[in-house]
Amino acid sequence: MVFDSIAEPGHEQISYFSDPETGLTAIVAIHDTSLGPSLGGTRIRDYESEEAALTDVLRLSEAMTYKAAATDLPLGGGKAVIIGDPEEVKTEEALEAYGRAVDCLAGRYITSVDINSGAEEMDIVARETDHVVGGTDGLGNPSEVTAHGVFSGIRACAEHTYGTSTVSDLNVVVQGLGKVGRLLAEELLEHGASVTISDVNQEAVDEFSAAHDVDIVAPDAVYEEPCDVFAPCAIGGVVNDETIDQLQCDIVAGSANNVLKERRHADALAERDILYAPDYVINAGGLVTVGKEYLGGTYEEAYEESEKIGDRLTEMIERAEAEGTTVLDAAEAYAQERIDESETVTPALPSN
Ligand code: NAD
Repeated sequence: MVFDSIAEPGHEQISYFSDPETGLTAIVAIHDTSLGPSLGGTRIRDYESEEAALTDVLRLSEAMTYKAAATDLPLGGGKAVIIGDPEEVKTEEALEAYGRAVDCLAGRYITSVDINSGAEEMDIVARETDHVVGGTDGLGNPSEVTAHGVFSGIRACAEHTYGTSTVSDLNVVVQGLGKVGRLLAEELLEHGASVTISDVNQEAVDEFSAAHDVDIVAPDAVYEEPCDVFAPCAIGGVVNDETIDQLQCDIVAGSANNVLKERRHADALAERDILYAPDYVINAGGLVTVGKEYLGGTYEEAYEESEKIGDRLTEMIERAEAEGTTVLDAAEAYAQERIDESETVTPALPSN
């Protein structure tokens, strides 16, 4: 029964850590290390149950395998969750205990930032382990690279749909003006695109629209706003049974993770002739940055590499067309082939 939960998605290892002295409760899931050590962030969240935490970490770590493989990185997929109210569980002692937990995995799992864990938390984790990236002495803010990668992905989608990668004729709706969305909107504006913004945070909307020439759409009207590109850069699950019929765009391409509520929604978009850029392909700039830090390289190199996201996406779009599948199918096939072709990397276990 214990192994049933990990058998189907093919996880290699699930490690549970409990440290009553510091209150740490954490799960590290290593999905696949065929291409290299698993790398993925640590999510700190007050899950409604331990099962919910396990489900999340299994799903997220599997997604990291495909993201790394689809990005041609020599990395595997892993992810961790620390369970509890971030305000309560983010103590120095608990994060140090977490660092020791990561350390005992001997480099099979490299941790980094995620929801509720940032560079400062990674600095504390780094007191106990070398297997961590994304601290304050790291390469820098990955959001800029993520935004640039999404921009290159949008250009690739435009080339396929309209026959030109020039964005100056595009009208793009950017949902979410956070760390990524605002940088993407700025880059689009710099290149002459018309941009419509939307955010539940009115302050963010006011601030951005005061500084830039943009249109604004209310959060609940965003899906039915006519545009060329809908760029979800806020939350997951925005393409669902309810929104699919509302969409009035040719392309869905943004930074958000888990854009599709369910996998079948990729087929539903294709049926409506809407080109969907798979989230883990187009938003891989963040992973490129932390991967570069781990593998060795500069921020500038990571930024440059994020431009290859567009080329990779083009390859997947063309493959989907040739094989009569969705781009998501083609992306999965691309990633799976890389994994299958790899010489399994010997897990980094301690030597005697
Ligand atoms: P963020 O938290 O900085 O910004 C999210 C923004 O979305 C906020 O301004 C928030 O007010 C807004 N928002 C929330 N719900 C909304 C809704 N229903 N409608 C409109 N706006 C809403 O996050 P971020 O770092 O910019 O990341 C955005 C998305 O991209 C997330 O899904 C994240 O997982 C994903 N992503 C980010 C990175 C990165 O480098 N930061 C990398 C890969 C993927």
